[in-house]
Amino acid sequence: MEFNRYSRQILAFGQEGQNKIESANVAVVGLGGIGSQIVQALAHLGVGSFVLIDDDFVDISNLNRLIGATSQDAEEKTLKTVVSERQIRNINPKAKVQPILKNLRSADAIKALIECPIIFGCVDHDGPRLVLMELASAYKRILIDSATEIIPEGDKITSFDGRVVISRDGDYCLDCAQQIDMDRAKWELESPETRESRRAHGYGLPDITNAPAVISLNGVIANLAVTEFLVLVTGLREPNHHLTYYGLRGNVNIRINKRKDDCFTCGYLYGQCEGANIFRYILPGI
Ligand SMILES: [Zn+2]
Repeated sequence: MEFNRYSRQILAFGQEGQNKIESANVAVVGLGGIGSQIVQALAHLGVGSFVLIDDDFVDISNLNRLIGATSQDAEEKTLKTVVSERQIRNINPKAKVQPILKNLRSADAIKALIECPIIFGCVDHDGPRLVLMELASAYKRILIDSATEIIPEGDKITSFDGRVVISRDGDYCLDCAQQIDMDRAKWELESPETRESRRAHGYGLPDITNAPAVISLNGVIANLAVTEFLVLVTGLREPNHHLTYYGLRGNVNIRINKRKDDCFTCGYLYGQCEGANIFRYILPGI
């Protein structure tokens, strides 16, 4: 047998399985602690086509977990999308990469996602999570959404967890999985003026930026997400809808919740394709 860079994978999935991995066309939205690990693993697997979406730049506080980022990137405030693109090209120069250095709520990002069959959601907030969830349901795209949660309380940590939720063909969503706070999501999607006015009247929600983040927890969740992608594209098995990693116990649980009968999002009650009017989320001027 002649060896090539994918020989050890071909031993697992066969040439046919490897071809399926290489023909995959994925988008990764959010290129922080989780997204940068997902990108790295997908590039090593040989995934052939990437859309990368993030408008944030590297900060020194990201360097504990951002794959591919250097001190120079933090000093020069390199965009995270540029770091992930560089990482892919270093691993697999043949991969096609479409970097979108803009917010998810831009026409470029939304149009690119509509064309993408598999979307990895790696965002920090419920607002963008809601946009991705509606887009995936409306256009029947596969959404693999990943998140971690570390909750310190006094001198203890009460939660060191993460989860992956997979929606396919409108069969499940983050709302069915109870993994999105819809009030918070809608609040985050309001205009800054409306949000400020609400806050002034005592109806605001606390800011959740700068939450704790640890590379190994991100790695567990990122690789659970990539493994579910892998079993899906190679046909090894059906992917799970919902996996939770409990870091304080060290185990992974499969949740077998079904789609809610009256679910507004994956029940298509918003409409499908253009009918869902996902473009209403686009922010002016970007
Ligand atoms: Zn649902």
